[in-house]
Amino acid sequence: MTDAQELGITESKEYNTGEWYAEVVKKAGLANYGPEGMSGFIVTRPRGYALWERLQGELDARFKDTGVQNAYFPLFIPESYLEREKDIVEGFDPEVAWVTHGGHEELEERLAVRPTSESIIAPYMSQWVRSHRDLPLRVNQWASVVRWEATETKPFFRTKEFLWQEGHTAHATSEGAWEETMLRLDQYEDVYEDVLAIPVIRGQKPDHDKFPGADTTTTVEALMPDGKSVQGATSHHLGTSFAEAFDLTYADTDEEERVCNTTSWGFSWRSLGALIMTHSDDQGLVLPPTIAPEQVVVVPIWQEDTKDEVLEYAEDLAEDLESEGVRVELDARDERNPGFKFNEWELRGVPLRFEIGPNEVDDGEITAVHRPDGESVTLDRDDVTDEIHDQFDEVFAKLYAAAEENLSENVREAEGRNEILGTIGQHGGYVKAPWCGDEDCETEIKDQIAAEIVMVPFEGDDEKHHPAVLEGDCDCAVCGEAAETTAYFAKSY
Ligand code: AMP
Repeated sequence: MTDAQELGITESKEYNTGEWYAEVVKKAGLANYGPEGMSGFIVTRPRGYALWERLQGELDARFKDTGVQNAYFPLFIPESYLEREKDIVEGFDPEVAWVTHGGHEELEERLAVRPTSESIIAPYMSQWVRSHRDLPLRVNQWASVVRWEATETKPFFRTKEFLWQEGHTAHATSEGAWEETMLRLDQYEDVYEDVLAIPVIRGQKPDHDKFPGADTTTTVEALMPDGKSVQGATSHHLGTSFAEAFDLTYADTDEEERVCNTTSWGFSWRSLGALIMTHSDDQGLVLPPTIAPEQVVVVPIWQEDTKDEVLEYAEDLAEDLESEGVRVELDARDERNPGFKFNEWELRGVPLRFEIGPNEVDDGEITAVHRPDGESVTLDRDDVTDEIHDQFDEVFAKLYAAAEENLSENVREAEGRNEILGTIGQHGGYVKAPWCGDEDCETEIKDQIAAEIVMVPFEGDDEKHHPAVLEGDCDCAVCGEAAETTAYFAKSY
């Protein structure tokens, strides 16, 4: 295979989405599959990890600005701890990996590899919280968790071990916990929209699909170009279930001992899956400048007689950009021609390419090419440190607009069972339908076309954590009984 073939994406995003995705992940150097016998595990390569680090930085700054401190808890959870909150044991039981031996010795008590850490964090919070003055208490950990997923795995979207952050908070009141739940959902929405250029819709999970032990699970959902929804991140109001199970109480102002309300919220590298799937194309990875490891690549184009002046101009330009804080790469490799370099940087998703040839040098200009659509614009060399930010904004806006168009064109309504099935079958996307609240009605749709209720929108604009109540009489689209809410049906990753 020649270098050029190795660089090319051979699968089609439109017709062969799964294979195309796997090819982009591999050829853009983001991840490899884990060793044989360990399906569902991946090796994250430096270019993939760089994306995660940037997301981490964005979220971490938002958390710290809003009263969260980072901490770290053990990887293992004693079985007896896990058993103290019954919903969590039941909910995660089919997915837990167990440690039974340490060296040659069998352990007295099995240890769970954490699938989520409420059961090891809450008992420590209960030691740290004494009075109302200790509240709210907010800790976050950046870690990996293990869930032995039964359904098909896919790099970043669904892996058996995945990187994430999990935030855990304790509050004096349920209202305080609600504010926290919504604040974290807002931050997740922000990061999806402002960093990843992916618009999301938000709402809550149906009761039968809540996080084990939660009062309410809220979610941000993103629609992929192939019409499937991704659960982008979740924020849970846990009520008092974990606090009761782990004696997380506080002395209130009247000296009465009261049970805390807790929350937990998690954002994983599934977001990278959504990023890759949303923007990339048949040439490879496409990244918004907000997260790209290299925001600009400068490609000098020379003949022997123009080499010195072109290179000097390009080097000078790269230095200027770097001192402006731009992440810039100068590709002055001798052994590669410009066409090869263009393809390679396109595959890797660099949002902006600067082409510098003798004409640009003579005219004091730069030819800038936008990765998403190949649009070429001429910039004035002297103004470049100002103009670069507008260029980044333009590239970002193009990506966001395309994703937003996909979302707005793919929310449809249905009033009957066959209409739900037909609409999702034909177009994918979201179908809004009145729903009675019964899981059986979802099951009926699931059995037919593997679509589920991905969320129930919040009521009104205040998003007061109540599901939207339907105005007037309305029948459930599936069973015909009285409907309680609107539900969004979709196929999902
Ligand atoms: P949960 O604790 O189940 O609410 O999960 C928190 C978030 O982690 C979810 O909203 C998903 O975006 C993500 N997530 C859950 N399972 C996986 C997985 N197997 N691989 C990658 N991300 C996941």
